[in-house]
Amino acid sequence: MTEGAVPRFWREIPQRYNLIANKCGNCSKVYFPPREVCPYCRRESMGKMEELNLRGTGKVLTYTIIYTPSEHFIGQVPYPIAIIQLDEGPKLTAQIVDCEVEDVKIGMKVKSTFRKISEDGYIGAIHYGYKFKPIEVKS
Ligand SMILES: [Zn+2]
Repeated sequence: MTEGAVPRFWREIPQRYNLIANKCGNCSKVYFPPREVCPYCRRESMGKMEELNLRGTGKVLTYTIIYTPSEHFIGQVPYPIAIIQLDEGPKLTAQIVDCEVEDVKIGMKVKSTFRKISEDGYIGAIHYGYKFKPIEVKS
């Protein structure tokens, strides 16, 4: 990978890397991925969308363990895919990393981390995006 290739890609799809959401100025609902118009407020057209940088922290709502990889994930199985509810409210689906499959728990606190998502051997393009890893919780 050459320096410079990744920053160009970052500018093209910034929300994949910075976890930028939109917040409705009227009802304060948070959307990730960002939406142009708040579906609840658009009739009144009062809802002005504001950009919101998500903290990237949340908890696991539910998860599934993937044993059969897509071609891009060969070598990574088994791996957990979770539906994560961010602290700001939006839900998203992401892979859990830095965690043994059997240690993934519903309600587990997680934090976003940027990792290689897939590598296309033919084109040689490497795509980066968000994954989530457990937050160490002192008990
Ligand atoms: Zn709204």
